[in-house]
Amino acid sequence: MKCAEILLPLPLQETFTYQVPEDLADKLRVGVRVIVPFGKKKYYSGVVVRVFDSPDMEFGYVLKSILYVIDERPIVSEIQLSLWRWISSYYIANIGDVMNIALPSLFKISSETYITVNPDFLGEVDGFDDRVYNLLDALNENKKLTIKQVESIIDVNNVYKFIQSLVSSGVVDFVEEIKNPYRPKYEDVVEINEPFRNDTAMNELFNSLEKRSYRQMEFMLAYFKCAGAQSDQFPSIPLKLIQNEVKCDRAIANALVKKNVITISKRKVDRIEKSDASDCIDNLQLTDAQSLALEEIKTGMVDKNVILLHGVTSSGKTEIYFKLIEEAVKNKKQVLLLLPDIALTTQIVARTVNYFGHRVGVLHSKFNHNEKVEIWNSVLDNNADFDEGCNIIVGTRSSIFLPFNNLGLIIVDDEHDYSYKQNEFSPRYNARDCAVYLAGLYNSKVVLGSATPSIESYYNAKNNKYGLVTLKERYGGLTTPEIRVVDMKDEKRFDRIKADNYSVELIDAIQAALDAKRQVLVFQNRRGFSLRLECEVCGWVPTCMNCDVSLIYHKVFNQMRCHYCGYHTEIPGACPRCHSTNLVMKGFGTEKVEEDLQTLFPDAVIKRMDLDTTRRKNAFNEIISEFTSGKIDILVGTQMITKGLDFENILLVAVVNADTLLYYPDFRAFERAFQELTQVSGRAGRKKDRGKVIIQTFSPYHSAIVYTVDNDYEKMYYSQIIERQAHKYPPLYRLINVKVKHKDPAVVNEASKVFASLLRQELGDRVLGPEYGSIPRVNNVYIKDIMIKIERNKNFAALKSKFVDIYTAFLMKPQYKGVMLVIDVDPY
Ligand code: ADP
Ligand code: ZN
Ligand code: ZN
Repeated sequence: MKCAEILLPLPLQETFTYQVPEDLADKLRVGVRVIVPFGKKKYYSGVVVRVFDSPDMEFGYVLKSILYVIDERPIVSEIQLSLWRWISSYYIANIGDVMNIALPSLFKISSETYITVNPDFLGEVDGFDDRVYNLLDALNENKKLTIKQVESIIDVNNVYKFIQSLVSSGVVDFVEEIKNPYRPKYEDVVEINEPFRNDTAMNELFNSLEKRSYRQMEFMLAYFKCAGAQSDQFPSIPLKLIQNEVKCDRAIANALVKKNVITISKRKVDRIEKSDASDCIDNLQLTDAQSLALEEIKTGMVDKNVILLHGVTSSGKTEIYFKLIEEAVKNKKQVLLLLPDIALTTQIVARTVNYFGHRVGVLHSKFNHNEKVEIWNSVLDNNADFDEGCNIIVGTRSSIFLPFNNLGLIIVDDEHDYSYKQNEFSPRYNARDCAVYLAGLYNSKVVLGSATPSIESYYNAKNNKYGLVTLKERYGGLTTPEIRVVDMKDEKRFDRIKADNYSVELIDAIQAALDAKRQVLVFQNRRGFSLRLECEVCGWVPTCMNCDVSLIYHKVFNQMRCHYCGYHTEIPGACPRCHSTNLVMKGFGTEKVEEDLQTLFPDAVIKRMDLDTTRRKNAFNEIISEFTSGKIDILVGTQMITKGLDFENILLVAVVNADTLLYYPDFRAFERAFQELTQVSGRAGRKKDRGKVIIQTFSPYHSAIVYTVDNDYEKMYYSQIIERQAHKYPPLYRLINVKVKHKDPAVVNEASKVFASLLRQELGDRVLGPEYGSIPRVNNVYIKDIMIKIERNKNFAALKSKFVDIYTAFLMKPQYKGVMLVIDVDPY
């Protein structure tokens, strides 16, 4: 008996075994989708992960059969499946959940299985009972019936088995009217019919049309205008293009169809716009520094699979990527260029498309479902023929799931960016780390690029796991911008402040930039919680005794607490530093900054770029293009403006309040503050001359700021390594976070305590908590955190597998049935 193991897009860890009917056997391959019955009355499309032979009664029960094979070619490869398995095991997630996020949602077809009368059925067979005749009657009336309908018409125990027997005796047939939700897009195209495909006939036609049907002649003229200088004299032209040209209705075209001059037919079109630029025409010249870095990367790749390219902002990392991509494509290898949230990096997408033309496919997180299917198919096409489809994919984190079969190079740009981590639902994966694993499966190379590498990646480079290539020089010989730190304590004391939050120095610098007809970028971090205590006089912010994080005000407890170690303290009556009683809850965002600046600079054009102003699909691009064309003088924004943007005319970058970055309650706060301040500074003075940066802060001597000003990544790195070692954080320790959730706080308390103590029996004091997080209740569900810290050098896999055992056993306990455990490995 032939069997197949099927993976279903359900939150389950197992796969399911089905029988393969003989007529489907040769269509069935690993990686194709099939429709299978599941549970009582449901049908799902699943992916075949294994095909094997088995003795008939091996399973002790009759296996259900596969109903239908959807794909003619596998849509996922063995390598994709290995990646899914790895993600499932590394991130402790159900394999079905991995499948669910990996496949475009339109691939998860919903089906209605119908039966009809078999056209070869002669109408009379001996030995059938009334049920069959009832069914045939019903089919006579309705032509087709769903399985559910059959069930309601006749009374049988197992309708599926019953129908199956009728199918095998040739009475009825399955008709798969599968609602394949993917709809190809068609357009009408105009073609010139054969008799008119020569100059003589065409001239005659024009003469006659000119006299009798002027509009039709205009239509033909428009056709030739659209055809332009194409090599084919009579190409097929989209009807819409012609109609745009002459502004005529369909009747004119129909008249020409009637005269047999043209034919209008439907043609399938790509939703994804392709650039017409031809291959690699750009004659990009690398600078000496860039060429050297490129050589070092290539040499490094001889014995390292991953190279970290640490290049200062505007050093031309993109240009180095292009050279690497070019070479891979020449060797007929596919390339994946991963970008952080792509909306934020449209410039690099445009540059890649300009450079590599039709070879580039873009996978945008905002793409609609059909577009996602098309990009998937385009990679499959490319697998079959390297000159078809796309071999360079530029995309956000989910592009690691595309069905490459020949991936030669993965580049992760701004590898430090936390948008690579998906932390909203399971699997909570980091696309950068998955990319490294994926490259291993293909035996291909990875380049991680950043001006501010993550501590994790730099650690790997320092420990010789990754190669390290450094690029210290900006393109064009420019130096990184001059950074001025403005001490807001002093400014307040000496009354050099306007509108509460802006130093006179900042205001003067903005004015100077505006006078010089240059642009200004103003950064205001919104991530800080609004409920943060701060001393009005000296800027003191309460921080945790044990961790480098600020305390969060907890309404429920009326306390300040540390998110990580559980340290907590009462709200002080006065500032411990300056004894002022002027303690306030702080937090002000971009909107306020925009408003304030408009009052201070009434003539300037000021726009804001944050989540609120970029929700519409094209809003982001509109702001970027307005800024590029110089229509905006001052752009105020959140993290969005720190990422990857390349504008020539920015003279000044202002950070209104760096303190919200510094005192964010996370062990990565320091690292991130350095990264964000360095990145936003990197937007200034990229082309013309050296830029200027002003950072306003109450903590001018905070080392994250000092290292930013000195542009000293190494110092930042080593200071953090010491901290992380001391407080047991990555990269020296690995973290697993468990959120225990339930509607009833008593249940959460009990369950989390029990779970933590079970863990402690095996893992000892690596287990911290349970502890309430900063938001103890979300949607009326109470959440407690348990954090597990595992030494990097200890056998992580072995300890993790102990964790998984305890976790699985805990899930089986009936008394905690309603308790939800959310696992996050390598949490961000
Ligand atoms: P990074 O990605 O390192 O921040 P970019 O690749 O965006 O830097 O380069 C910064 C700017 O310098 C871009 O506008 C880019 O076009 C330009 N540039 C860098 N290298 C070159 C080069 N070799 N030739 C021409 N322009 C370059
Ligand atoms: Zn104070
Ligand atoms: Zn703490």
